[in-house]
Amino acid sequence: MRPKIDAVRDSAVMPEVAMSGNDDIGVGNRRLRSRADRHTLSHVIPSLRPLSGVDVHSRPRHTRWAWRAGRLIGIDVYVHVTFPLLFVWVAFRARAGGASGRTILAALALTLAVFLIVVLHECGHALVARRFGIRTRDITLLPIGGTARLERMPRQPRQELLIAIAGPAVNLVIAAILYAGSQLFGVGLLRELSRPAIAITPASAAAQLIAINVGMAAFNLIPAFPMDGGRVLRAILAMRSRDYARATVAAARVGRAFAVVFAVVGILLLESPTFALVAVFVWIAATSEALAVRRSAALEHVPLARVMITDFRTLAPNDSLARAATLAIDGFQEDFPIADRGTLVGMLTRRDLLRGLVEHGTDAFVGDVMRRGVPTVSIDTRADSAVEQLDASGGATMPVLRGQELVGVLTADNVAEFLSVRAALGDG
Ligand SMILES: [Zn+2]
Repeated sequence: MRPKIDAVRDSAVMPEVAMSGNDDIGVGNRRLRSRADRHTLSHVIPSLRPLSGVDVHSRPRHTRWAWRAGRLIGIDVYVHVTFPLLFVWVAFRARAGGASGRTILAALALTLAVFLIVVLHECGHALVARRFGIRTRDITLLPIGGTARLERMPRQPRQELLIAIAGPAVNLVIAAILYAGSQLFGVGLLRELSRPAIAITPASAAAQLIAINVGMAAFNLIPAFPMDGGRVLRAILAMRSRDYARATVAAARVGRAFAVVFAVVGILLLESPTFALVAVFVWIAATSEALAVRRSAALEHVPLARVMITDFRTLAPNDSLARAATLAIDGFQEDFPIADRGTLVGMLTRRDLLRGLVEHGTDAFVGDVMRRGVPTVSIDTRADSAVEQLDASGGATMPVLRGQELVGVLTADNVAEFLSVRAALGDG
């Protein structure tokens, strides 16, 4: 009778792999999205098909398929719609293994406990980030782990180091508290772990949770992107060399070396496809992190005016949706700034337009379906930080203003275009 713990262990003991930045293999506008994914401290439990994490990850809409479960330390915690499936799966596995009702309940409780631990781990990152004035937009639980979406990542290595290390530190503190508690009650933890478990007792649950926490901390401290340890390594290298981009390239190299080790160990020694998948993710994450930093270095001294689009169309609030649709069909532009006597009053995205057409028809006014209060960026902003703001906004297009005057729009596509042209010209 080993099903119950196994059910939990399969889903949880192999702790989290963060998978930020894995969008980077895409082309066009997807390329730049990954920069924002860099701000995601995400944690994935790989034994449940980590591949499914790729699309659920795509920012910024991953909260759309999630329920708001509550608020913790001022941050909304979301539960992805697929999350309950994990519990069905754990129960099913335990049941198929012949476990009793009580044991199944215990396995479910332990699974829930593991996810609470993941939430606390994310809160650790978020609390330290907050100390440095960086807000966390939300924490989302997926069946494969958790993610904390940070508004941005600090460029100061010391801050990045402390934010990254805070997650694993939370795990170690929880483990220490459980250990101290079990010592108080005189529980032999090793015996609990090695004993073939017939039923989950408080002592065996404590032993499991200590093992899970230590495992999570250890796994996340592996010095490879996208694990917390990769950030720790980059931060330490950057503190020594004072060169963030070079430190990232070096850390990415270490990450790829670890990916190779994962693959070899996973396939040859453990015969575990999970490990091989983890290796693939680690490889991709290492590469994309290096690319993202190189890209932001390439934009560092570029004025925003060179990167933005200046040849674009605007609409007025009293234009009809029919006119908007004609413009959208006639040209390449997908999102239209809405200007009223020269002042920007909103944006009409492709999605807004389609929704407006479905709900109100072609005669409706642009002003009725546009979105107001859209984030804008000033022409004086540096290109690299403007692109960061574009990412953070979650939109595809950001109006560029000089004072109140609309002078351009910034899109991820165009920035990617700019960078490829520049690379082709061998300029910088
Ligand atoms: Zn973490």
